[in-house]
Amino acid sequence: MRASASGFARTAAGLVAALVASPLLAGKAHEHGVGRLDLATEPAAITIAIDLPLEAVVGFERPPRDDAERARAEAMLARLRDAAALFSPDPAAGCKPGAVTLDAPVLQPGAAAPKDGHADLAATYAFTCSDGHRAAFVEVRLFDALPRLQRIEVQAVTRKGQMKAVLRRPATRVALAR
Ligand SMILES: [Zn+2]
Repeated sequence: MRASASGFARTAAGLVAALVASPLLAGKAHEHGVGRLDLATEPAAITIAIDLPLEAVVGFERPPRDDAERARAEAMLARLRDAAALFSPDPAAGCKPGAVTLDAPVLQPGAAAPKDGHADLAATYAFTCSDGHRAAFVEVRLFDALPRLQRIEVQAVTRKGQMKAVLRRPATRVALAR
């Protein structure tokens, strides 16, 4: 029994090493269905930055080709501007939604199709808080807004340090050390 348990441990360690070396996790190229979310708590603010494959947002990664695609892109961008609908920091932190920035170059009028066939959307959300460090969690509702999104790789920085987490559909809560 001992031997098989240590055999399992070795296999698991090998698997982790293989994942870390995987080109999907290494280079810049995104993985469809997977978003990134970076979060930081400060005394008077919580800031959230997300990076999404455009495929998960509008279903394509090139400029819109017709009015229907343009309308879909506009509707999704409007939805992604609604910080209060997408994110709810722990009420203990006393946060209110503030500035939002959205950056999706391929959806700009006159944009060219990306050379490598992939395009992203980046967004930032600034919440002003009475005490951002009191947040024990942030509710993230990106899976509701984006049916193609399956997983979110989370990195958070709080006064306790850095942490990583993975949010898998249908989970919504990012727990924070405080
Ligand atoms: Zn892509």
